[in-house]
Amino acid sequence: MRIGVLALQGAFIEHVKMLRQLGATAVEVRLPHQLEGLDGLIIPGGESTTIGKLATEYGLMGPLRFFARAKPTWGTCAGMIFLAKDIGIEEQPILGAMDIAVDRNAFGRQIDSFETDLEIAGLSAPPFHAVFIRAPVVTAVADGVEALARLDDGRIVAARQGRLLATAFHPELTDDLRLHSFFCDIVKETLA
Ligand code: GLN
Repeated sequence: MRIGVLALQGAFIEHVKMLRQLGATAVEVRLPHQLEGLDGLIIPGGESTTIGKLATEYGLMGPLRFFARAKPTWGTCAGMIFLAKDIGIEEQPILGAMDIAVDRNAFGRQIDSFETDLEIAGLSAPPFHAVFIRAPVVTAVADGVEALARLDDGRIVAARQGRLLATAFHPELTDDLRLHSFFCDIVKETLA
């Protein structure tokens, strides 16, 4: 199983390491041809405006849109924003692949980073320790999108639409491999 990690900016190394721990072949993606032969892709957290700017410069926007329409793709934090169809009034390049509306920097500046334990549908106990860093939330999901996790106030912070996965937090900054394993299972299903 070959899984790419978009390596333009942000926390990509950590995803690569976790995929390797799970026995997958992890490939850093910076140029369009590096998407060839991949079975899935992770778009990491970082800064979505920077990721969008660099993806545009490197000619990756079209190839990434094409990839996310066909293959398993998981966006974490900035990656979730980049994957979404609707980011409100923000003017920045996005893939628009997943039928979710996202609010960037949803927690404001004062409490822009926090950690909390989350129940995530599809993962066995215990709760997942989730690290939120200037995180977005999902404000709306279309039919066919499943909310996998919510904060205590009900706001959605993880969602799945078939092959597409979005998480508002940074699972690569803990040593819990369960979400990476969950994504690898989605990739395996598409290969079966
Ligand atoms: N606030 C960032 C953005 O808008 C996301 C932060 C993150 O990925 N940790 O892209």
